[in-house]
Amino acid sequence: MTFKAPRGTKDIFGDDIFLWQEVEKILRGICERFCVSEIRTPVFEQTELFQRGVGETTDIVTKEMYILEKKGSESVTLKPEGTAGAARAFVENSMYAQPQPTKLYYITPAFRYERPQAGRQRQFHQFGVEIFGSYDSSCDAEAISIAYETLNRIGIQNIELRINSLGGNQCRKKYNKILKDFIGNNIDSLCEDCQERFEKNPLRVLDCKNEKCKKVIENAPSVIECLDGECSAHFEALKKNLDNMSIPYVVDSKIVRGLDYYTRTVFEFVSNEIGSQGTVCGGGRYDNLISECGGPQTGAVGFAMGLERIMMLVKSQELIKTKGRNVDIYIGSIGDEGFLKAQSIGFELRKAGINAEYDTLKRSVKAQLKYANKIDAKYSIVIGESEINNDKVMLKDMRESSQKEIKLSSLKEMLIQLMN
Ligand code: ATP
Ligand code: MG
Repeated sequence: MTFKAPRGTKDIFGDDIFLWQEVEKILRGICERFCVSEIRTPVFEQTELFQRGVGETTDIVTKEMYILEKKGSESVTLKPEGTAGAARAFVENSMYAQPQPTKLYYITPAFRYERPQAGRQRQFHQFGVEIFGSYDSSCDAEAISIAYETLNRIGIQNIELRINSLGGNQCRKKYNKILKDFIGNNIDSLCEDCQERFEKNPLRVLDCKNEKCKKVIENAPSVIECLDGECSAHFEALKKNLDNMSIPYVVDSKIVRGLDYYTRTVFEFVSNEIGSQGTVCGGGRYDNLISECGGPQTGAVGFAMGLERIMMLVKSQELIKTKGRNVDIYIGSIGDEGFLKAQSIGFELRKAGINAEYDTLKRSVKAQLKYANKIDAKYSIVIGESEINNDKVMLKDMRESSQKEIKLSSLKEMLIQLMN
């Protein structure tokens, strides 16, 4: 019997895992700089949280969720995104009663039943930031600046920030009506999905990836013209905030994002270098979600970045050089006595903070040293009976191909010095 990883999932290991770890280090470093703390929420939540939070008419809820049913217990769903869980945690743990804002980040797997293709998987990973407690545009700009600086720090080139405003409930109502009229007049030119969904949620049509629909949408009326005074002022203020931080952007009135909870600001960072799945980051303001989750009315804004798409850019633009495995010393051994000494010294060195490796396969010395080369160990020694009896060993510098004799009993001190 052999097994395969489920369709749309990937093992991450070998050279790739060093790249992932390096990127994760950057993400955590950025969050520390921007005073954002980590939150880890469960991988599954009550199904209803996503239905209400993400929105009944979204693609995610209507066709992409992994719903788990167990006889006798309530329905739970693998998280398709991170915001709903963070919002639930904010309310359940009364974080709103603490001094605001509450700034949270997560690095999490997410699950969506989609057709796998480059940059689109069924289990993928998101880096997300959520800021709760402010309605002000400066907070939208703060979230955007975190995403911007993250992409910058990773070194990603040629990426565009697109912003838009969907307005508040009233503006949305007004726009939905105008958009419905427009779509109604073009209904025959749309894909089947859109013909069906435009009645319930016309905004979804703007988000459709079908080429036919994209063509129609080009001429759709702009949501920005439906913004009321306050929403318009909010959007203008956001632009000022971004200008103030010298963050470049373009206004794109067709951006609506795939989730229902957005109000006012929405934004995306898009690359044209990784094919059709070019959106590496999406976010926006969602002032109704916290109250929807049973908390007090609370301003909120956030984003999520797709890490698989980030990694595609990291690789194609060759942005990060990793050192790979970092082995300080390989301890070769001859015979049983030699092995026991190698094992005890190896353990001592590891406890002292030195990355040490020794043979556990009972290989020949020649094979051991070949392996030491392969794992790119900085130093190596070989311990046999005479090394133990005379307290002497040759310390070989594998990179310089030079060696010198040292006392076996002073190996640890020697290495500590060499490593600093
Ligand atoms: P798309 O339009 O590409 O389907 P989305 O609007 O569904 O994206 P969000 O729900 O906003 O995306 O998720 C934020 C980010 O997560 C996306 O910009 C993308 O980088 C990433 N992402 C979303 N779905 C997937 C997936 N199935 N596989 C890999 N990454 C994904
Ligand atoms: Mg999607």
